[in-house]
Amino acid sequence: MAYNVGVRAGGGLIPDHYEEIRKLNTISFADLKLAPEILKALAESGYTTPTPIQAQAIPLVLEGCDLMAGAQTGTGKTAAFVLPMLQKFLPHASSSASPARHPVRALILVPTRELAIQVEESVKTYAKHCKLRSLVVFGGVDIKTQTPHLKTGVEILVATPGRLLDHIEMKSVQFNQVQMLVLDEADRMLDMGFMPDLKRILALLPKQRQNLMFSATFSNEIKKLSAEFLTKPKLIEVARSNATAENVTQKVYLVEQADKHVLLAQLLRGSDASQVLVFTKTKLTAGRLAKQLQKEGVAADAIHGDKTQLERIKALDAFKQGTVTVLIGTDVAARGLDIDQLPMVINYEIPRAPEDYIHRIGRTGRAGASGKAISLVSPEEEKYLKEIEKLIKCEIEKETAVVPRHAAKSERAPRGEHPERSHAPRSEHPERSRGPRPAAPKKSSHDPWFDKPYEPSGSATPVKQPDQPESKPKKEVAAIFVRRPS
Ligand code: AMP
Repeated sequence: MAYNVGVRAGGGLIPDHYEEIRKLNTISFADLKLAPEILKALAESGYTTPTPIQAQAIPLVLEGCDLMAGAQTGTGKTAAFVLPMLQKFLPHASSSASPARHPVRALILVPTRELAIQVEESVKTYAKHCKLRSLVVFGGVDIKTQTPHLKTGVEILVATPGRLLDHIEMKSVQFNQVQMLVLDEADRMLDMGFMPDLKRILALLPKQRQNLMFSATFSNEIKKLSAEFLTKPKLIEVARSNATAENVTQKVYLVEQADKHVLLAQLLRGSDASQVLVFTKTKLTAGRLAKQLQKEGVAADAIHGDKTQLERIKALDAFKQGTVTVLIGTDVAARGLDIDQLPMVINYEIPRAPEDYIHRIGRTGRAGASGKAISLVSPEEEKYLKEIEKLIKCEIEKETAVVPRHAAKSERAPRGEHPERSHAPRSEHPERSRGPRPAAPKKSSHDPWFDKPYEPSGSATPVKQPDQPESKPKKEVAAIFVRRPS
């Protein structure tokens, strides 16, 4: 598989790196001298060619170097640290049941529970033929269910910082054999205020160890963190720190805030995408949008901090299985989600921190696949859009979306804004949506739906029964898209 992602500078590839990238794209996992047990697991996963981050990181980690890796999610960064980690610990593999034979040798710290689960799933996949144990611990679930597993002994421990500190306090884990520390999504750990927790944990680890740090962005704080925790690190970067994946098509619809949920429903109905991840600014909006879409017949669910861990895992599983096709989440909840071949991400609200835009759209177009990232931007949000464009150093294609009540008004839509003459792409054209068309929600300049108090997931608004009278007949709405004059 060939990858577009390479060592980049500014808008294009540095000529000196062409050869390097060509080489990176043609080597195989076998060339990296990985053990047969690991190669077998990779082959079973269908992976033969390392991604650029893997091709660069694996030899350095095997040599024992500390690493500061700039790689956004979707580049294959997890395998970049897990594969050499397994290779290094293979001599310690043991089928003995004794916990003493399975001390913690590697600690992988991640910012969120979802990422923790996914990283450990990857460890299990790649370690399938190695007699090395792994475990994931994260908050939000009963700590007592984790302790017995920890006590049986695990070589590779994936953890969120807070829960790990709880286990440390309960003395259910020992770190005297830790040889390798990974800080994954380090930038997000800092954003989430984990620095004090990280310092406490790191102070408990043996001084002699290998440290690997992965971050999507290279802020000054990250550089400081790297200076503090890494020893003479090798620096690798597969895409410029603030670059978005090249295989993601980005698009902006300029739309009034009050029209967004109508537009979203139409985009979803008109889309061919089998799975869509939708980002909102708040968990309140995520929850409401999910309920609204469910009422309209869309298989949607929300994943946010007010849901229990079990609900979040269930929603994520349903999304991965395809029974839920639209998953709505906030930045924190959706961080680290790794869904193979996720074709589309929609920013219902664009993030205030421009780096979050990179993280969000990094959910699609992973490991060389193509993806689509759509952002719905209200006039109030245009200033944040400018910041994003400044960061990614490119202007995103824009269209204005108008959501008229054409059934209510008899006047003709102005030329160029008529739904039938829309410039909307085929797959997004509201008039050409596939399947039964759910009733469109009522449009008003101010959307009262957003003023309703938050309803926790347990008390879902009952879906109206067909024989219940409507308080007001719903009006037909349509979105029409007009290319923005440049
Ligand atoms: P990550 O950046 O670690 O979140 O990985 C993104 C996705 O790429 C995951 O779904 C991996 O399973 C997949 N992946 C990892 N390594 C490879 C590879 N060498 N070839 C193809 N896909 C890969």
